Amino acid sequence: FDMFVLAFVERLFRPTYKKDDFVLGKKLGEGAFGSVYRVSLAKRPSSKDGDLVLKKATEYGAVEIWMNERVRRACASSCADFVYGFLESSSKKSSEYWLLWRFEGESTLADLIQSKEFPYNVEAMILGKVSDLPKGIERENRIIQTVMRQLLFALDSLHSTGIVHRDIKPQNIIFSEDSRTFKIIDLGAAADLRVGINYIPKEFLLDPRYAAPEQYIMSTQTPSAPSAPVATALSPVLWQLNLPDRFDIYSTGLIFLQMAFPGLRSDSNLIQFKRQLKRCDYDLVAWRKLVEPRANPDIRRGFELLDLDKGIGWELLASMVRYKARQRVSAKAALAHPYFDKEGLLALSVMQ
Ligand code: ADP
Ligand code: MG
Repeated sequence: FDMFVLAFVERLFRPTYKKDDFVLGKKLGEGAFGSVYRVSLAKRPSSKDGDLVLKKATEYGAVEIWMNERVRRACASSCADFVYGFLESSSKKSSEYWLLWRFEGESTLADLIQSKEFPYNVEAMILGKVSDLPKGIERENRIIQTVMRQLLFALDSLHSTGIVHRDIKPQNIIFSEDSRTFKIIDLGAAADLRVGINYIPKEFLLDPRYAAPEQYIMSTQTPSAPSAPVATALSPVLWQLNLPDRFDIYSTGLIFLQMAFPGLRSDSNLIQFKRQLKRCDYDLVAWRKLVEPRANPDIRRGFELLDLDKGIGWELLASMVRYKARQRVSAKAALAHPYFDKEGLLALSVMQ
């Protein structure tokens, strides 16, 4: 069967919608490039399972639709389930792109991390029940390890597809209540380097809280976006030269850090951390030497968690948060790290 025929048939049978089909619900997000709402279908407003998420986007919506279509075909389980995207031009104002996803759940990782219950709230969601194991640092480590594995797994499939997300942060990670896993959302800043889509644009979009120190994910020496066929031939080489995927690894390392250190979960403390790290020339080991002697109990607890099992957690974190992109591990290599040798939460629940 031809891939194009398959894609066409699949597209034909997927539901298509238009403006009047939706009843707008709660506003979930509002950015410079669009607004996001929970919506239900006008025809069956009562069915909660049928709920969708609608993003009304500006001109950048076209790229986001393209990325979501690609993810849907190449690595569907790593991102929120994309339903449909179209140009909505019925209003008198300038036209908008409308994007629709399945409503995956109520909570992003940002919501869950901010709760005093973290990481036990996440454990209950992944297992679907409250565990009766004693609370403590070992159990917390196992929960965080499971979240990290899910994130890296999703990231590895995105990167293997040739897509760099560039805006990985807890706000862009949604807990999918159906699959009981974390999925990546918001491909609005993503770049597909294999076909040169969204090559080096919109650097200004990047969230300074989670962005890696390099300003550009591709070296500024690389020529500007070549036309698609040339890019397809060249970009695996460019990928190897520039390792743009390591930008996402840095951000994921910061999420690991925030999960391990309760004291670094607020924006202001994360920003303070980044300032301290910069003063240490982005050397995480030097940062540890700086803060550990006068650390408060929150910070000490983070080191204690990462030091479990001869410090393999700390070792993994340090291999993700490095100044030079090429010294950071890839998502695939991170998944093979000994930190993940121990069984995670799902294995536990099968055993019980
Ligand atoms: P932006 O950050 O550009 O406003 P996002 O795509 O990140 O747009 O969506 C904004 C918010 O909407 C997310 O942080 C999340 O809370 C919610 N959201 C987005 N997609 C989904 C989805 N598929 N299921 C549930 N909630 C979602
Ligand atoms: Mg977002």
